Amino acid sequence: MTEPLTSTGTTPESSAAAVDGLPQERRLVTELPGPRSRELTARRQRVVAGGVSSMLPVYVQRAGGGIIEDVDGNRLIDLGSGIAVTSVGNSAPAVVAGVTEQVAAFTHTCFMIAPYEGYVQVCEELAALTPGSHAKKTALFNSGAEAVENAIKVARHATGRTAVIAFDHAYHGRTSLTMALTAKNMPYKQGFGPFPADVYRVPGSYPYRDGLDGAAAAARAIDMINVQVGAQNVAAVIIEPIQGEGGFIEPAPGFLPAIVEWARANGALFIADEVQTGFCRTGDWFASDAEGVVPDLVTMAKGIAGGLPLAAVTGRAELMDAVHPGGLGGTYGGNPVACAAALGAIETMREQDLRGAAHRIEEQMVRRLREMQAVHPEIGDIRGRGGMIAVELIDPDGAQGPQTPNPVLTGALARACHAEGVVVLTAGTWGNVLRFLPPLVISPELLDEGLDVLSGALDRLTAATA
Ligand SMILES: *Cc1c(COP(=O)(O)O)cnc(C)c1O
Repeated sequence: MTEPLTSTGTTPESSAAAVDGLPQERRLVTELPGPRSRELTARRQRVVAGGVSSMLPVYVQRAGGGIIEDVDGNRLIDLGSGIAVTSVGNSAPAVVAGVTEQVAAFTHTCFMIAPYEGYVQVCEELAALTPGSHAKKTALFNSGAEAVENAIKVARHATGRTAVIAFDHAYHGRTSLTMALTAKNMPYKQGFGPFPADVYRVPGSYPYRDGLDGAAAAARAIDMINVQVGAQNVAAVIIEPIQGEGGFIEPAPGFLPAIVEWARANGALFIADEVQTGFCRTGDWFASDAEGVVPDLVTMAKGIAGGLPLAAVTGRAELMDAVHPGGLGGTYGGNPVACAAALGAIETMREQDLRGAAHRIEEQMVRRLREMQAVHPEIGDIRGRGGMIAVELIDPDGAQGPQTPNPVLTGALARACHAEGVVVLTAGTWGNVLRFLPPLVISPELLDEGLDVLSGALDRLTAATA
């Protein structure tokens, strides 16, 4: 059964090639991984660095809509989008069209040497789409970590201060400075120190575990900043509006606005790291929008360009312009092919109303997950927004009390889903969060089937341990 996706903004032939060519259905023709994937794993083990791991050793042949097809002909339901990247689907027609035209025209001149229109167009789009109606300027980079590094550079330069505040459970990347900002030791930091100085960590808001309302959680964080760092030293506070790798932790209402207000009152900048939450993922263009939070600087990557490497920092014009010419940049930053992909992805988000799609995904997922929670006390919490939904798994009889994290069940569930051809990801400080980031163009039927597999696996695994 072929299910064409609605594709109003793209040419019918390219739409047919990208999605009609790939039936939107799960199909297992071998065990996973199949023989060709196992061959590739053997080759990989000889030449690919062991520090780079893969969650499921299934090699991809093509992908589109909500399906990943492997080299053995198996079709898997994609509930991960390559970590919130292919929100518009893999090889989205408008992305393919833009990239194809650009790659044939020219591939690279370096924007710092000889500039081109695509870079300017992306900056125009980001000025319009990011929160707030103030004058904004943008610099483009290649990865989320690089965007975060550059936001910190801008903040330090513009304020003349050096201290940076990050939060418990934060994830900001794997480069030296972003490792310092990231909370979790294994696997991100172990053995990679020393880390850059003048980064301070304070508690955030984790309603399921701290029980605090937004005002109380913000007061706790602010007191610690004042006492341990000194407000006058703080260049920036950086936060994910919904924490990603930390386990889709959504702060209690009022927490983010209170932190912004403190930053404004004390001459510190508020940086929203929207690398995972941006571009319709949470049902808004940016997660900050839900509470009317207007950041001074926004970092973006992941969903921005349909899978091509692109990242951005957009901020108040006077802050972005505080840096001397040549102080920001990089050889590849804002590569023309990646910019063409971003313009195609943004067009797709607008024309297919992917914010609306994210809301529908949330409604469907939360309804199904609540049904599972009603019969499985191991689902301690269901949270997130839009197409960014997670369950936190617990052992209600565990040694640490009724909310004891349950990473064993989480890992077993993920493996069971993978074996049945459903790609789900794990997350969380204690590895006990199963997170879902489906492409926002996934069909409701495919999403339901993925949730059926999860539900069956949960029934089997909890019966086995009961
Ligand atoms: C993934 C992520 C990053 C790092 O992005 P890379 O492109 O992997 O460098 C930074 N911040 C957040 C919130 C992320 O989710």
